[in-house]
Amino acid sequence: MTEHSFDLVILGGGPGGYVAAIRAAQLGWSVACIDENEQLGGTCLRVGCIPSKALLESSERYHEALHGLAQHGVKVESLDLDLAQMHRRKTQIVKTLAQGIDGLFKKGKVTRFLGRGRLDGPGSILVTSQDGELSLTAKDILIATGSRPAPLPGVEVDGDRIGTSTEALAYDRVPEHLVVIGAGYIGLELGSVWRRLGARVTVLEALDRILPGMDLEIAQAAHQIFKKQGIEFRLQTRVQQAVVQDDRCVVRCEDADPMEADRVLLAIGRVPNTDDLGLDRVGIQVDRRGEIEVAENFATKVPGIYAIGDCIQGPKLAHKASHEALACIERLAGGYGHVDYNTIPGVVYTHPELAAVGQTEEQLKEEGREYRRGVFPMMASGRAQTLGETDGKVKILADAQTDRVLGVHILGARAGDLIAEAAAAMSFGASSEDLAHLCHAHPTLAETLGEAALALHQRAIHIPSTPRVQA
Ligand code: NAD
Repeated sequence: MTEHSFDLVILGGGPGGYVAAIRAAQLGWSVACIDENEQLGGTCLRVGCIPSKALLESSERYHEALHGLAQHGVKVESLDLDLAQMHRRKTQIVKTLAQGIDGLFKKGKVTRFLGRGRLDGPGSILVTSQDGELSLTAKDILIATGSRPAPLPGVEVDGDRIGTSTEALAYDRVPEHLVVIGAGYIGLELGSVWRRLGARVTVLEALDRILPGMDLEIAQAAHQIFKKQGIEFRLQTRVQQAVVQDDRCVVRCEDADPMEADRVLLAIGRVPNTDDLGLDRVGIQVDRRGEIEVAENFATKVPGIYAIGDCIQGPKLAHKASHEALACIERLAGGYGHVDYNTIPGVVYTHPELAAVGQTEEQLKEEGREYRRGVFPMMASGRAQTLGETDGKVKILADAQTDRVLGVHILGARAGDLIAEAAAAMSFGASSEDLAHLCHAHPTLAETLGEAALALHQRAIHIPSTPRVQA
């Protein structure tokens, strides 16, 4: 068996693994990256963030042409949906970006192995591919194997009628009735896509609210908007079974009549890819969720083996994985690497978008922390009016004594871009007063952040405020 030796071998070529590979190569290390998929980029690029955002953009344009352009004085005489072209565009974007990573690997002299990697002992990895087995040795090993959709007992995923996000990104026809299990990130994003393209969409959610983890006030406001968009919700509805019967999907829930659909999307979370990695061969244990336990520097209990991204604790987000990748490599190189988990933003790319960073109001209440809140409605923004994007609001939460920003929650157009300012402010330990003093260009949506910060001090300009006595 051929044996190859490297400074660093990375299992997984997703936003954790490939970013780590590029950075390590910049440092002059010999680096190998193993991934069993022809296209690099992981779930995020192949069947996650990127293709879903491509479809969200295309479906939003279709919906806008159908329902939104007339108010701008733009008449559309006839309109056709070319779903095949929508998918071609999505596929091309994925291809371009995956080729980009290939190019970066070549320029950086990262060695790519196409196959499945397994730990074979400390410092030793076995790669199984179509061509047989290869043995690699490494000074350090980084596990960045990501996650996969969580299964639900009773829901018989057949990869066609009953599927996960992977299938929902590729339906070749607009479903008549799509039942979505789970009102989380994936359920709402992909539910939105197919609703805009004309499907009846019913979202079944076990809890009494959508988007658990997001600030409740913001999630409830979003819920009302999604209902107006025609998405049907059944809360406190725990799905127990979904099967295909006589060419129809039948979904059964606790305390409810069975429901029929022509497609079912299962989106109840993700589980780490940590089985079949040979972890037991080297003595690495996983917790009850299957996640690898790591120390602050991403080191596992076994010297020389590190782990980052969806296969360890924390939110399952591509940018969290990339951030950990950089921090891990910097620390391995003896430099400074740190991830501030409190300032990792989360974005739901519905229309309007939801974006958040820091703590929710519920978390602050639970902690018993004294805080103040400033809220500014998108309706009062000149830019939002010109865009015709007046749904939503910005909420800033700050410590009552120090005024330090503790959380920012946005529902509105381009919230995912706006949250960057809040994340930067929180990373620098800003107060809400600091945000209020920033000069935002006019007219921009970013002004709503400044106004929400002013509102926290009862000084907002474009909504009525009762000022506290000023010095
Ligand atoms: P999620 O954790 O966001 O939401 C899952 C939902 O399913 C929850 O509301 C949960 O209460 C519900 N649920 C669980 N069991 C149920 C049952 N039996 N019946 C009905 N409802 C049930 O999970 P997701 O949407 O699958 O997304 C997985 C992860 O992928 C997310 O946590 C996120 O980290 C990541 N993701 C991020 C983005 C983004 O950044 N925009 C997009 C997609 C996915």
